Amino acid sequence: MYCHKRFSRLIFPVVFVLVLYLNTGIFLHAQTRLVVLPENPLPGEPVTLGLATFRSGSFRAVLLNSRGQRLTGAVFFDLGLQDKNGQAVKAALLAVPSTAASGSALIRVEGGVERIAEIPVTIGNREFIFEEIALNQENTDLRILTDPKKVAESETLWRLISQTGTDLFAPGPFVPPVTSTRRTSFFGDRRVFRYVDGSSETSIHAGVDYGVPRGTPVTACAPGRVVLARPRIVTGNSVVIEHLPGVYSLYYHLDKIGVDEGAMVNARSPLGESGSTGLSTGPHLHWEIRVAGENADPDVLVARSVLDKALILSKLNQ
Ligand SMILES: [Zn+2]
Repeated sequence: MYCHKRFSRLIFPVVFVLVLYLNTGIFLHAQTRLVVLPENPLPGEPVTLGLATFRSGSFRAVLLNSRGQRLTGAVFFDLGLQDKNGQAVKAALLAVPSTAASGSALIRVEGGVERIAEIPVTIGNREFIFEEIALNQENTDLRILTDPKKVAESETLWRLISQTGTDLFAPGPFVPPVTSTRRTSFFGDRRVFRYVDGSSETSIHAGVDYGVPRGTPVTACAPGRVVLARPRIVTGNSVVIEHLPGVYSLYYHLDKIGVDEGAMVNARSPLGESGSTGLSTGPHLHWEIRVAGENADPDVLVARSVLDKALILSKLNQ
């Protein structure tokens, strides 16, 4: 009797600890996982990050160059999925700056001050076109004259496109905003603007320019919500659409705006007609994509989906 009692006293704590271990075992063994698509992006290319974790809280990703300097960053959002271990799956979208040097780099995921995961990436080498643009007095003034309204417009736009929402309006590939394929400028062109006084300034072209006549129908590149549709000093009549968390498309120099701020649009919904308003040397459509505030190459978003949930999940489950 005495012995049996002593055995019970011993076995209960052992069973208790064993049950505790089994209950928490999945947490102890399931790893936070991170995938990067693609692992060898080019300058200007959007990069999709998938994160599976039991941890709660908000997470952000940063892209660091080989010297540990921050090139860009993005906030994770929920995909409403679980990986094979039951971990919540999140995603973040960023774009490698077109100015990034080729070579080794690192993607780091942070939760507060904690480092959650890291993956090395290799930024490929990409050459960009050089072009020189002579501006007349009117366009020179648009670029160099300080104007409080211009500064305010620039701050308003930056506030808009640096936001990371939660809506997944456009998980598929984008479609070009005009049917014409005639381009007068390309993504990432290194530009020198020559001013009328002989001085010059360098700039990088943030989007692609389609050389289309005034009045050409311009359509949305993907489903989304119109977050800006109004005249601006430098970009003329402008439309901005939010498609995914931190992913926006921008349409500049329109002759007429045919959509209202707040409107929901589909791919190929009419946005207005192309023109030459704002800082423009002739009729064209400037089409630009921003990902987490950074300029991204629109052609990549036409070529592939940047939020393929099934692909993200399968890579995390590998
Ligand atoms: Zn342009």
